[in-house]
Amino acid sequence: MNPLLEARGICKSYYKNKIELPVLRGVDVAFQHGEVSALVGRSGSGKSTLMHLLATLDQPDAGEVWFGGQRVDNLSRRQRDEYRNRQIGIIFQFYHLLPELSALENVLTPAMISRSVLGYCRDRKALTLRAEAMLDRVGLLDRKTHKPAEMSGGEMQRVAIARSLMSEPELLLADEPTGNLDTETGESILQLLRQLNTEDDLTIVMITHDETIAERADRCYRMQDGLLVDRFTVEPAEETFTPRARVVA
Ligand code: ADP
Ligand code: MG
Repeated sequence: MNPLLEARGICKSYYKNKIELPVLRGVDVAFQHGEVSALVGRSGSGKSTLMHLLATLDQPDAGEVWFGGQRVDNLSRRQRDEYRNRQIGIIFQFYHLLPELSALENVLTPAMISRSVLGYCRDRKALTLRAEAMLDRVGLLDRKTHKPAEMSGGEMQRVAIARSLMSEPELLLADEPTGNLDTETGESILQLLRQLNTEDDLTIVMITHDETIAERADRCYRMQDGLLVDRFTVEPAEETFTPRARVVA
């Protein structure tokens, strides 16, 4: 089967005082439908840069990004916005919630942004019901009136996940989703992501610097200095609690 999301020969440099800093130096990677994949690598290896390119938040200097059999990196800005709003959900280490808004309003923001005022008013009832259902999905319906300052880190990440699900995306990109959480809370977020993968067939690409978190994925890709250096599938642990990794390519 064709991969859902694919990067082909991606190169990206940043420039500081006219000096080129090559960050991605020819990355090829494909993510399959219905899988949880992890991109693992040390801080600075280029993971977030790659994720931004996969999400078309930025454009590569060379190479292509394909989603569902269509090239997306070279679309017009409007088409890229549409791709991002409709097909993918994104969550970040620091949640990126709007502090003035309640949990429910935060979950509704993508729906507000992608509609005209009139369109939003027309659909408001249905959208609110959907936002409540998404908050319920992540176990936070009883916190719908809470603002971010009145929630824990784990709760804020759950709200961000609920928000990312509003558009019924096929793919979730998660940049260090547990990076700011204690182990136990991080674990509950990983379990929630796995549940969404199993129950909704949501394809997930998770970025992490933490090997033990990467091992929770079905498939891992290791990045080093802007290159993909290793890929392996993770076999479920049977008798031990430590998943064993098998190198396949
Ligand atoms: P990771 O997510 O793996 O920690 P990043 O993709 O964030 O890595 O960054 C890779 C490299 O690119 C780092 O050395 C970082 O300092 C540099 N970098 C990231 N964003 C920018 C930017 N906007 N301008 C200049 N350099 C950047
Ligand atoms: Mg990063």
